[in-house]
Amino acid sequence: MKHPLLFVVLFVVSTTAQETGKPTLCVGRYQSEADAVKQLARLSKTHANLAQWKARAAAVREQILTGAKLNPLPRRTPLNPIIKDKRSYNGYTVESASFEARPGFFVYGSLYRPQSSKGSCPGILCPHGHARGPEGGRLRPDQQHRCATLARMGAVVFSYDMVGFGDSLHLGWNHQHKQALTLQTWSSIRALDFLETLPDVDKKRLAVTGCSGGGTQTFLLTAVDDRVAVSVPVVMVSAHFFGGCHCESGMPIHKTAKLETNNAEFAALAAPRPLQLISVGGDWTKNTPKVEYPFIQSIYKYFDAEGNVENAHFAGEGHGYQLSKRQAMYPFMVKHLGLDPKGVLDKTTGSYDESKNTIETPKRMHNFNSLKEMPRHALKPGTIVSFK
Ligand SMILES: [Zn+2]
Repeated sequence: MKHPLLFVVLFVVSTTAQETGKPTLCVGRYQSEADAVKQLARLSKTHANLAQWKARAAAVREQILTGAKLNPLPRRTPLNPIIKDKRSYNGYTVESASFEARPGFFVYGSLYRPQSSKGSCPGILCPHGHARGPEGGRLRPDQQHRCATLARMGAVVFSYDMVGFGDSLHLGWNHQHKQALTLQTWSSIRALDFLETLPDVDKKRLAVTGCSGGGTQTFLLTAVDDRVAVSVPVVMVSAHFFGGCHCESGMPIHKTAKLETNNAEFAALAAPRPLQLISVGGDWTKNTPKVEYPFIQSIYKYFDAEGNVENAHFAGEGHGYQLSKRQAMYPFMVKHLGLDPKGVLDKTTGSYDESKNTIETPKRMHNFNSLKEMPRHALKPGTIVSFK
């Protein structure tokens, strides 16, 4: 410290922050890659056996819920689901489906089901990321392919809008809503509740997969809800990058006076449940094979469950949930959920055929054309949602 005054100022600032217990927001590239490696080493030192890890995991989980203003968890209010407009395609159906995560606050989505569902299907949630074109989120062809292909292999799949995307956008909500992190995390928990109400869904085989901002939703939901049996976060688990949007890092879930953590440790909370990390060379997941994956493996070792965690890394590829990444995810879901790839998997090439999927138009995928079609008690777009 060269200047004594600077030392005094820094000392006062850090003392004040500690005394007030004010948490720090870790936004975007909050720390360097080298600092992330050092932080993971510090985090690893907080436990040396399974019991200590379980205590650590509980503290991290509690910090997520507290930071997201979901601690204690809000009361479960009636979902009042609206399922309609069934469309039949090659081996699967799609319905428009929505429910109330809070009274009057609707989550809008598309429900994909196998054509010949005989009951007891795995249920898979598909949150989406921030990509806006063409038409964005749930409406994107990539997302439709993912959901349709999983349904053709026997899963009931719910693909649902972030705040200010899809129907939510079309009906007037803005993604800049200050409760976005709270609303989306709670909506994902309620989406599991929604899947559990469906008679053809096996409650013991629930999974979630999403990319980018949908990857954030994937590991946050898996961290806070034990019902998730299989988790596949795509191009998002990074120890140095915390998510650039307020719906990912705009609330104090990462760093408080009591506990520091990062998204790699959030993902590790999946242990010992099956977890697949899909990463690429072209974004903040570029270090996954040598940084985040070994860290997460070390947690799975406590459970003797190293076989349950995998990393599919595409060194030459960029951000997104394109065909190559989906081709890596499908066999993981087949293996851990007991999906039936017959008619979809070409055994000679090992590739999963998406050519029989039907890509719908955004207009076809809307649940409601206007607010007038919605139940009267639907909240006005932009309303601050009550959690009391
Ligand atoms: Zn966001």
